[in-house]
Amino acid sequence: MPFVCPRGHRLGPGRVIVGWSPCVCPPCAQRGRGLRGHRTYLCLTCKNESITTMCYQPYHVPDKAAAYRWP
Ligand SMILES: [Zn+2]
Ligand SMILES: [Zn+2]
Repeated sequence: MPFVCPRGHRLGPGRVIVGWSPCVCPPCAQRGRGLRGHRTYLCLTCKNESITTMCYQPYHVPDKAAAYRWP
């Protein structure tokens, strides 16, 4: 899990909303069946400031030929 959001807030229990976003980008495709996607981390500190920052694990790599929309 990432420890800081893109704006420098420390992430921890109660300070982040963890979610899941199915994806088929190259880093995801290398993973096993049922694991193709990103774990998403929404920083609550940013949310309190009306700014939405979302982190993805593993990093999302858009496919140039992708027809799907991201996010
Ligand atoms: Zn933040
Ligand atoms: Zn992806």
